[in-house]
Amino acid sequence: VFQLSVPLNFLGSVYRELRQSLLDMETLFNLQKVNVTIKEKPNAQPLRLTGGEIKFENVTFGYRPHRPILKNLNLTIPAGKKVAVVGPSGCGKSTILRLLFRSYDVQEGRILIDGQDIRDVSIDSLRKAIGVVPQDTPLFNNDIEHNIHYGNMQATLEEVHAAAKRAQVHDIITSFPDGYKTKVGERGMMISGGEKQRLAISRLILKDPPLLFFDEATSALDTHTEAALLSNINSILKEKGRTSVFVAHRLRTIYDSDLIIVLREGQVAESGTHDKLIDRQGVYSELWSAQEMKFLEGDDVATDEEDD
Ligand code: ATP
Repeated sequence: VFQLSVPLNFLGSVYRELRQSLLDMETLFNLQKVNVTIKEKPNAQPLRLTGGEIKFENVTFGYRPHRPILKNLNLTIPAGKKVAVVGPSGCGKSTILRLLFRSYDVQEGRILIDGQDIRDVSIDSLRKAIGVVPQDTPLFNNDIEHNIHYGNMQATLEEVHAAAKRAQVHDIITSFPDGYKTKVGERGMMISGGEKQRLAISRLILKDPPLLFFDEATSALDTHTEAALLSNINSILKEKGRTSVFVAHRLRTIYDSDLIIVLREGQVAESGTHDKLIDRQGVYSELWSAQEMKFLEGDDVATDEEDD
């Protein structure tokens, strides 16, 4: 009996330890799964775009359990319109773009593009329909030409140059000794934050997607270059009737939007056109006055990086 019970005890403790470590692995796996749960439905159909209307219906989402960033959020981005999302830092503006791109899935509610739940369509077709200029665009360790061309490998070199012109960066590129063949990225030439942003926008213009998202896409540019670039982007959007979403801190860059959505604590605090929101004398009008005051004093708000 004695001889038998020892190994049994021993096995029991091994079993408990093994079980514990399996549980730990499960917890670890579940934690990691937060970022890898995006799965395509077996019968997913390609996204069918009609006009590019985007709807958030009762969307609740948080990166961690019990810490929702978006709380029962409802909003509509009308087809073919230019919409801005503004609000205090950390209120969930970029999260909205990440959810639309399906980097994460909502925990409650749903996101519709032209009436289709984005979880029902093929991920490839969804991401092909979207062009994003994120806050910080990674560049490939390759030349400038490739970095723009990547937006649409079928495009001609003339089209690559035309995109760079509209993004206000062609003249800078041609002033480099190696021009479009200048190597950039980790092992390439250091280029400024503003140049990087314009390369990302050139890439987007070349891709020419039906839905365009800009996340602080011009924050590193000086006011003059930014205004010229935004005017070019606006004319492209109008010309093609594209739906676009701009996440912005500086209200001067988005006041001309068809619709401005002001987020606060994961919900829509107010929305409307600039004029309507100014009349309302709420959060937006307060923010606008504060920023205008700074601008007139020559102390423009928050440029994260200086452009060369
Ligand atoms: P900003 O204007 O500063 O860019 P934002 O309104 O775009 O802010 P989000 O980037 O959407 O804010 O982030 C919303 C909240 O979620 C923030 O509190 C942020 O710290 C948190 N958050 C963002 N990404 C993650 C992540 N991957 N894991 C955990 N928390 C995150």
